[in-house]
Amino acid sequence: MIEDKNQARTSLSELGEFGLINHLTQNFNIQHKSTIKGVGDDAAVIEMTDKQILVTTDMLIEGVHFDLSYMPLKHLGYKAVMVNLSDVYAMNGNATQIAVSIAVSNRFSLEAMEELYEGIHLACKGYNIDLIGGDTTSSTTGLLISITAIGEIKKEDVVYRNSAKPTDLLVVSGDLGAAYLGLQVLEREKQVFQVNPDSQPDLTNYSYLIERQLKPEARKDIVKLLKDLEVKPTSMIDISDGLSSEILHICTQSKVGCNLYEDKIPLDPQVISTCEEFNLNSTTIALSGGEDYELLFTISQEDFLKIKANPHLSIIGHITDESEGVNLVTRANQQIKLTAQGWNALQKE
Ligand code: ADP
Ligand code: MG
Repeated sequence: MIEDKNQARTSLSELGEFGLINHLTQNFNIQHKSTIKGVGDDAAVIEMTDKQILVTTDMLIEGVHFDLSYMPLKHLGYKAVMVNLSDVYAMNGNATQIAVSIAVSNRFSLEAMEELYEGIHLACKGYNIDLIGGDTTSSTTGLLISITAIGEIKKEDVVYRNSAKPTDLLVVSGDLGAAYLGLQVLEREKQVFQVNPDSQPDLTNYSYLIERQLKPEARKDIVKLLKDLEVKPTSMIDISDGLSSEILHICTQSKVGCNLYEDKIPLDPQVISTCEEFNLNSTTIALSGGEDYELLFTISQEDFLKIKANPHLSIIGHITDESEGVNLVTRANQQIKLTAQGWNALQKE
């Protein structure tokens, strides 16, 4: 167990709830003018005058969303923040504050909670986020962490999922499928470790995949890039559940169809080599892997030249009329109807 790795082990009951909250939050600084009151009172106070406020929450549960045998607590804290910031950026917004709620059992030590908050702290520093509150409660065995992120955006800048138009181009940031494969590699190593605890795995061939699983980055940089390029997406969503599921969300809500081109899907070389090794179809992994936390958006054709040569962005398809459906156009130029599980669609191939 990761949390037993520490030499020192201070029981949480030694500090009590308030001692724990004070201890964990003492190193966080307030960065934003809009944070009038952070941790310490019954509620935080935020002042945002001329902007709209974005609010989003994600909850992570041990055994469902993470496994502490290969997810270090520091990474978990970092990732839990990223997952939330990603949703704010997917609205084209600027994330400013978070509130963090945790439920812990006495299985966890103070040192373990310090590690978790170290990851949260690192995320807050790197992304300029104020920790403004939360809740601390006990659980019987597992760890539960729920984060609410708050962001701000000018009314005219908000980008919804429901406003893609036929002829728009479909664009994705970064590359896809790596986080899912990282999880597969970690699962495999866990099983090897259970059989032979002395095994020393060489994971260099999977370094990018593991990094994408354990330390994802929310794409704040893409929101800025689009602003700098003077491109306002016509619709946007972040990729948490896999490309095909997110495309379907945009298309269903916008009442449009889409052609996605298999040969345009961006894949890292480690994704390609690991798919070969694991005997997996890389398109399937990109379509249904999930946890990529890239941004998927549509732009008007007029903006094509502005993003065409950008190394962070790939044009992977275009929006069509609703009647044409949502399709994957394969390398063999076959059209396959996209389903939320791209997996099923591909197996019929
Ligand atoms: P109350 O009982 O009034 O809900 P709490 O005692 O739960 O207040 O919390 C005291 C203060 O500490 C509040 O400002 C709250 O937002 C903050 N807080 C509680 N738990 C956490 C946590 N896990 N992380 C950050 N801040 C927290
Ligand atoms: Mg409370």
